[in-house]
Amino acid sequence: MESLKNKILKDGEILPGGILKVDSFINSQIDISLMQEIGKEFYNRFKDLNVTKILTIEASGIAIAAIAAQYFKVPMVFAKKYTSINMDTNNYEAKIFSYTKQKDYIVKVSKRFLQKEDRVLILDDFLANGYAAKGLIDLVESSGAIPVGVGIVIEKTFQEGYKLVTDRNIRLESLAKVLRFENDTVILE
Ligand code: 5GP
Repeated sequence: MESLKNKILKDGEILPGGILKVDSFINSQIDISLMQEIGKEFYNRFKDLNVTKILTIEASGIAIAAIAAQYFKVPMVFAKKYTSINMDTNNYEAKIFSYTKQKDYIVKVSKRFLQKEDRVLILDDFLANGYAAKGLIDLVESSGAIPVGVGIVIEKTFQEGYKLVTDRNIRLESLAKVLRFENDTVILE
């Protein structure tokens, strides 16, 4: 996706610890026309998999998954990180290690929103070490549904999270791949 790659090269900032800051178009301010292109691209790459539901994690995944779900014409579900009094108590759960926060957290999806007949496409903004993707795959499998694919906007290939997805024979599609950072420059595939 050339438009995404150009945006990363123009507006992405490299932070210490191997973090790419993209808050001007994905993580805080959202570029909606780019998001629509991203949604269409995910649809083109996964349309043959008979997806019945899209799953992501709050917060940054929500915009990506919601816009993509419009093209698949399926419901979008997001796993919750924070408990609230209006949340169901009967949930599927998974433990995920957060690389950016350096601690574990539990994500939850109400059992009402995943059925064993579902074919679930997991979408997220970044793939780094793969813990978030693995947690969502585990969560989907615990419901009896099938995780048919993982779609990532920006994959940092040097952190090798892809192994946690492809080792489980799940199709992985990343729209932009960061090979490495060289001083202040992002090197994309
Ligand atoms: P993983 O679980 O694959 O190690 O990391 C994935 C999650 O960590 C993503 O959902 C994203 O929120 C966050 N993350 C990992 N690396 C980066 C990064 O370089 N930039 C940003 N903005 N978020 C990242």
